[in-house]
This record gives sequence, C-alpha cells and structure tokens, in this order.
Amino acid sequence: MIGTGARAAIPPLSGMELPGVFVLRTVPDGDAIRQFIEDRAVKNATVLGGGYIGLEMAEALVERGITVTVLELLPTVLSTYDPGMSEIVARELADKGVTVRTETRIEGFEGGAGDSVGYVVASGQRLPSEMIIVSAGVRPNTALAESGGLELGDSGAIRVDARQITSAPSVLAAGDCSEATHMVTGRPTWIPLGTTANKQGRIAGENAVGGSRKFAGVAGTNVTKIFGLEAAQTGLSTAAAEKAGFVVDSARIRARSRSHAYPGGGPITVKIIFEKETGRLLGAQIIGAEGAAKRIDTVATAIYGRMTVSDLAVIDMSYAPPFSPVWDPVLVAAGQAVKKLGR
Ligand SMILES: Cc1cc2nc3c(=O)[nH]c(=O)nc-3n(C[C@H](O)[C@H](O)[C@H](O)COP(=O)(O)OP(=O)(O)OC[C@H]3O[C@@H](n4cnc5c(N)ncnc54)[C@H](O)[C@@H]3O)c2cc1C
Repeated sequence: MIGTGARAAIPPLSGMELPGVFVLRTVPDGDAIRQFIEDRAVKNATVLGGGYIGLEMAEALVERGITVTVLELLPTVLSTYDPGMSEIVARELADKGVTVRTETRIEGFEGGAGDSVGYVVASGQRLPSEMIIVSAGVRPNTALAESGGLELGDSGAIRVDARQITSAPSVLAAGDCSEATHMVTGRPTWIPLGTTANKQGRIAGENAVGGSRKFAGVAGTNVTKIFGLEAAQTGLSTAAAEKAGFVVDSARIRARSRSHAYPGGGPITVKIIFEKETGRLLGAQIIGAEGAAKRIDTVATAIYGRMTVSDLAVIDMSYAPPFSPVWDPVLVAAGQAVKKLGR
C-alpha cells in the first residue's frame, strides 16, 4: 500500500538555499518558521503564492505583527474561485493591511545584511524582505510508485480504480499521491486534501485485507479562513466546468448570514454554477463572514445526489434568527438559478 503523499512544489529560483526562505508542508517546517521569526524578530515577510496555504500563512504572520506582501503570478489570489469571488478575499486582505501583487513573476531571492535573505527579485524589481514563504502548490510523491513501474494518470498522480487498486493488482495507493474520480465529470482528477486522503486510506486498508469497498469520488469540497472571511467551494468553477465540456450558467447573490433582526452576522455571497440545459448542479462557491463553511456542505451533498438547482431550491432548510434569514442564502441563490432556467 502506497501513501507517500505530496510535496511542496519548489520553483527553480535562485537563492532558495538562503536562510529565511521556507516552504510549509510539515509540522517541522512550521516549527522552523516560528523559530526564525522569534530568533530574528522578523518585521516583514513575503509569501510567494496566493493559494489557500499562502493566504493562511499571510494571516498567521500578520497576527504576529509582521508586515506581509503576497506575490501571485496569476491575475487573482485563490484562482480556483470564479472572477468576482476571489476579489472578495483580495479586498479582505487589503483591509487587513496585506499587500497583494498579482501578475508578478518571482525571479529569485538575494541575500541582505547578515547571512539571510534580504530581497525578492520580482518582475524586474528588488523588493526588501526579511523572510520568504514559498507556497507555490504541491506535486504528488510518485517516485516509489514509478520505480515499481506503476501507471500514473494525466495529473501525474498514481492511477487507481475505485477500490484504490493501482495498475499492479496487488498494490494499492491512497491519499495525496493518488488520483480520484471527480463526481461531476466522472473523470480522474487530482485534488489533494486531507478529507480525501482519510477516506481513501480507509478503503484501501479494508481492500488490502480482502475487502471490496469502492470510493465514491471527490467533489473537491474545501474551505479556508482568511482573516474575517470563510471561503468555501465545491464541485467545478465556471472555468473548470467549461473546460470539462459543460454549457454553463450561474447565479450569484449577496445576502446576510443571519436574520436582519438578529445582532451579529454579516454579508455572505453565494454563487451556484449549473448546466444551462438541464439545471444540473455543477459547483458552488460561498464567501462570507460566517456560515460559508458548513453551507457549502449542503451543496456538496446535492452534487453527490446529482440534484438540479430546482431540487436544491426546495430543500427544507432550517431557520432561526441566530443562524440564517428565513430564506437561507443557498436557497436564494438556487431560486435565482431556477429563474434563469426559465422553468
Ligand atoms: C499547510 C497545510 C494545510 C493544509 N490544510 C488542509 C485542510 O485544512 N483541509 C484539508 O482537507 N487538507 C489540508 N491539507 C492537505 C492535507 O494535509 C493532505 O491532503 C494530507 O496530509 C494528505 O495525506 P497523505 O497521507 O496522503 O499524505 P501526507 O500527509 O503527506 O503523508 C505522506 C507521508 O509519507 C512519507 N513518505 C513519502 N515518501 C516516502 C517514502 N518513499 N518512504 C517512506 N515514507 C515516505 C512522507 O514523509 C509523509 O510523512 C493541508 C496541507 C498543508 C501542507
């Protein structure tokens, strides 16, 4: 049974070996980062990469009183979200004092005074920085599998069937090193998450001792907290759905997380992505001050059940003022989607 996980993708940048340049994959990586901050009394840091780990690091550094710049190659942070949704997170970062520079290509790092890193060289500029967190994505650890001649999928992760069996019938693989079937497209995908690794690991373990259980696949449901925001997504984004060949429509609404009459709560934005012809739910993204994380699970359930937006719009969801408006934001978004369907 192979469960070799994933590793941090390390871009070929000059100066990666300088003290003060870190990746974050393991708990010892985290310990080393904290030690460096304490030993050097770090005042400013740069995070390379605006994915969820990079942004969670940005928040953690700000909480320690450090001035943070996030550099991102793509036009937005959290680029797996639809345009218009990731900007909500970008505004929150700006509000909390984080400088975000998008469409910025990092060329390398240079030493400063003393032995450690002092500058990031990005898009032709030298930006001072006492510390760098390289958060440029992950790659599956497949060296062991490849040395045994196992097949990899197009994603570069180990190809497995629903029973987690690899191309060699007596070898199973699970977790970040392996692919999974996407519930929406029905095709192999690689979305490395702890949720998936745990489920696949159990199934592989059971099957390794004679069982015959099948993994249901993934919808890519994930959530992150960026300062005062929860950002959650499930299924396909608009771009991913179009790439998979769907003709797509979407509905986006802004509501409140609690009843207007009840103190607290805040704005919440829900976007639902569906197949234009049939209304089949393809994905959803929810970003808000509270209640995004667990609302996404309702949509993930509906995706698993192959529901349409019309089905989602009539689900008997709970209501009491501390938890939601009488029309839950997910119901409101589904209702808008139904109107667009025109039936
Ligand atoms: C900072 C961070 C935050 C995250 N937050 C979340 C989150 O909030 N939610 C979520 O769902 N997921 C999250 N993840 C992802 C989650 O941690 C992974 O999906 C999960 O750990 C994968 O489990 P795994 O067992 O497949 O791999 P791993 O946990 O990576 O374990 C694989 C192990 O195999 C070892 N190994 C590799 N090669 C060999 C070899 N040849 N011989 C022996 N041992 C080997 C590795 O050293 C490692 O210990 C996060 C990841 C990171 C880095």
